[in-house]
Amino acid sequence: MSDKILIFGHRNPDTDTICSAIVKQILNEKSGNNDVKAVRLGNVNKETEYVLNYIGIEAPELIEEVSEGQEVIMVDHNEFDQSVGGIDNAKIIEVIDHHRISNFETAEPLYYTARPYGCTSTILYGEFKEKNINIDKKEATLMASAIISDTLLLKSPTTTEYDRKALTELADIAGININEYGLDMLKAGTDLDDFTEEELVNLDSKKFEKDGVKCVIAQVNTVSIDDVLKREKKLKEAMQNEINKNDLDVCILAITDILNSNSELIVLGERSDVIEKSHHLENDRVFLEGVVSRKKQLLPLVESNI
Ligand code: MG
Ligand code: MG
Ligand code: MG
Repeated sequence: MSDKILIFGHRNPDTDTICSAIVKQILNEKSGNNDVKAVRLGNVNKETEYVLNYIGIEAPELIEEVSEGQEVIMVDHNEFDQSVGGIDNAKIIEVIDHHRISNFETAEPLYYTARPYGCTSTILYGEFKEKNINIDKKEATLMASAIISDTLLLKSPTTTEYDRKALTELADIAGININEYGLDMLKAGTDLDDFTEEELVNLDSKKFEKDGVKCVIAQVNTVSIDDVLKREKKLKEAMQNEINKNDLDVCILAITDILNSNSELIVLGERSDVIEKSHHLENDRVFLEGVVSRKKQLLPLVESNI
């Protein structure tokens, strides 16, 4: 067991999860609490790698499980399904998150900050402001990157006025041009050549369960949906393997065009009707104009059809 409080985001970490964990550690340290350590629950993706290289820092240490009674702070998630092994027996000290609250229960009181913003780092930015703590260039770059990632350069419908304001101010401190830096960063995450189809399906994948229906929604970002669809056959095989392995009722892969803000879905499984009820599938696929957000667009759609 670590004697420090471990800070982490969700499995299959994205840029917000990694950056917010690092920034939360710094925020606590700057507030006089040094007993904290950012860690991660999975491989760093290429977009996040771009950010860490840009700043010149290492990724947090990888952990897979926590022992009973370990003190933890959860950022960018709260659902135990998406968290570290052993989370049910950990001592959750604090949660900072911008998702719905689901399957969450603790034995003891805790700090819980939930805001319906586009990004966890936007909440953290607010805490710096509130506590009057200075934000340096590195911290600003981390938070700005997280906001750019989660809101797809402020184009996702999850974007709020708080995200816009935070990003403008953070980019200023970081000395970055939002569109130039942001597009380079997002594009770095669309380089999918090195990944196997199995890895692509797991890169940014979230598990949900409603009324006993087990569902995975995975997402990959691209600048060309057609390019990704060249691998359709093998992607479907990988998705089918996930279904068999995890006993899923439905597996959805959203291939999201970050330049034009659209997504093509591949939908497989016994309950593919969670999409089919609203959108006609052809060869297990459908193109959804203007859909880029799993949280605000895909998840509500799927849940309404369960
Ligand atoms: Mg996230
Ligand atoms: Mg997030
Ligand atoms: Mg995301």
